[in-house]
Amino acid sequence: MPELPEVETTRRGIEPHVVGRRITVLRVHERRLRWPVDLSMVRSVSGATIRAAGRRAKYLLLETESGTLILHLGMSGSLRVLPVITPRIAHDHVDIELDSGVTLRFNDPRRFGSLLFTIGDPAKHPLLEGLAPEPLEEGFDGEYLWKITRRRAVAIKQLIMNSRLVVGVGNIYASEALFRARIRPRRKARSLSRAECAKLARAIKATLAMAVKVGGTTLRDYVGADGNPGYFRQKLYVYERAGEPCRVCGKPVKQFTQGQRSTYWCSNCQK
Ligand SMILES: [Zn+2]
Repeated sequence: MPELPEVETTRRGIEPHVVGRRITVLRVHERRLRWPVDLSMVRSVSGATIRAAGRRAKYLLLETESGTLILHLGMSGSLRVLPVITPRIAHDHVDIELDSGVTLRFNDPRRFGSLLFTIGDPAKHPLLEGLAPEPLEEGFDGEYLWKITRRRAVAIKQLIMNSRLVVGVGNIYASEALFRARIRPRRKARSLSRAECAKLARAIKATLAMAVKVGGTTLRDYVGADGNPGYFRQKLYVYERAGEPCRVCGKPVKQFTQGQRSTYWCSNCQK
């Protein structure tokens, strides 16, 4: 599933191709995404110029002079920049055709992605309004983690994956950040010291920043905006490395299930 670094990689990949370009036509080939695509947006954005390619959490925001397209890649979605004449393949659901002769093509086999449109400030859209701070921006730090962990007995891994508290930390990055911070995934959130909260905030930032830098993680369903898979996977400390030697101490990496997701950790390095 595309996580925050993959979405940011996609944003950076498409940005130079879309900003300043006019949308000649928006073609919706399949309306049945996570929410049915409201076809009235076709009229609104066709002919509009794209001012910016932004992101909030895992939503891509294509800001045009007539409103903002809000695109979510869902579980298996990807965006490609292709010449308009490129024949469609299975699961190509949306084309945002530009005056440069390329199309921004959305493919999503599982159709958990979404395409929405808003005229007002996208930050006020119901999907975006209540979102937690961006981990790569100011406002997310040890003090913030300290505050939100104080009364919570939930496991720290589950807390950092709760998008109402921290956005964009999915399963891979949660395991990786906890390893970097040397904190056991099952620790009760409120048991973390102030110093551990600071360490974990830094670890989350570093993990996500590095993943963005190398272009996201290579996953089954994910291909970057330019079609190249990411290289972060080769740098993973624990994720999907059960039984393999810890890159720090050499002991086998362990795995267990936590909230229906696999958690990977080193029982020697993480306390
Ligand atoms: Zn270790």
